[in-house]
Amino acid sequence: MGLSENVKRILNRCNVDCVYTVPKRLNNVIKLGKDVVANNQQMGVVYELSCVECESVYIGQTKRHLETRVKEHKSNICKKDSCLSVVSKHRLENDHNFDWNNCKVLHRENHRRKREIAEMFIMRQCNAINLQKDTDDLPPVYDTILGNM
Ligand SMILES: [Zn+2]
Repeated sequence: MGLSENVKRILNRCNVDCVYTVPKRLNNVIKLGKDVVANNQQMGVVYELSCVECESVYIGQTKRHLETRVKEHKSNICKKDSCLSVVSKHRLENDHNFDWNNCKVLHRENHRRKREIAEMFIMRQCNAINLQKDTDDLPPVYDTILGNM
């Protein structure tokens, strides 16, 4: 048997397709600051509220109308201490206020889990004031992914 026949035989035996998978990185999927919304009627979004007085930002997500959620943030300050959000705490502790009318939509996602992951990812990127939010309910794999960003 000649060499070329040997090679051919081996190649035929190794009839294996090489499949290359390039893992999609979150930062390719999630584009920051893609669009600033003109209206607050969007649903299923990750949004950013920024403090007027300092660099602080709050990152949140909602499946409802953005406007409804922003109103809740705004009125939360009237609740009793134990129910105060990080936004209200920032307002009270620093005597700061948020730019309610310029809430930015950073990401749109109707799937709840994906939206929560996007929120978490953006939160870390922006060094948001809600970073102390408990991330334990995310599967550890996401924490690893996010931690390596
Ligand atoms: Zn502030």
